[in-house]
Amino acid sequence: MQNNGYIIEESQGVKYLRFRRLIEAGFPHHAFSTRIGGISPAPYDSMNLGFTVRDEEQNLIENRKIFMNAMGLGDLEIKQLISLVHGNKVITTGDLNGGPNPAEADGILTDEYNIPLVTTYADCIPIIMADPVSGACGVIHAGWRGTFAGIAMEAVETFRKAYKSSPPDIIACICPGIGLCCFETGEDVAGEFLDKYYIWKDLAHKISNKNKWKIDLPGLNRRLLIQSGLSNDNIVQADTCTRCRGDLFFSYRRDGQASGRMAAVIARR
Ligand SMILES: [Zn+2]
Repeated sequence: MQNNGYIIEESQGVKYLRFRRLIEAGFPHHAFSTRIGGISPAPYDSMNLGFTVRDEEQNLIENRKIFMNAMGLGDLEIKQLISLVHGNKVITTGDLNGGPNPAEADGILTDEYNIPLVTTYADCIPIIMADPVSGACGVIHAGWRGTFAGIAMEAVETFRKAYKSSPPDIIACICPGIGLCCFETGEDVAGEFLDKYYIWKDLAHKISNKNKWKIDLPGLNRRLLIQSGLSNDNIVQADTCTRCRGDLFFSYRRDGQASGRMAAVIARR
């Protein structure tokens, strides 16, 4: 099944998304998980891949194994390399040595083989990135704070500095996350957006008769990537909202605290 640049694949009962653009560019070992195919009971049913949610630790460990096996990466182990703090810091696996474990950051890149990079989500915007020329790849967790703080641009800058990547070579796949349909904010958040990104005020919509706004976070990330030099053709946007699609995804805005987590994963092989 294909939709907006991604394919929903099923293997060993596990459903996950992959992007044709990344497969063609030599990065087949990537995925964005769905909630389908794991062992966690409700409300974490069933493929909960969170590191810190209140699900049983044993379920999380087992789900990681099931997920990696389904992706054909059963020989690799998912490790939490970064702890998400909703900021704009992007590190490389080369930065991990000697620092705190896991490191506080919202994006991680590598050009090393066989290190699966993983970030987890329940509405924030996941971006899987790769540069076919240098072979570097990574995952970015862009919540609204990180998006506003320009984490997408930080990611491109880190590709340039660490791997001498040329931005037009970089591919970015914006996975399912909270859509314009469901990212409702107060005037404070909308004000912050308009202060910083007034040129893109078309991405914010005031809801009539309410002091509420809707903001297009995937769209803002796309524009930040283009501003950083990526080619429009190298950005794939899933255009699928996690809150609207309870059949496939967990959503913090829909389910609250007791929400499982999806994972965005990429590994160089
Ligand atoms: Zn929605």
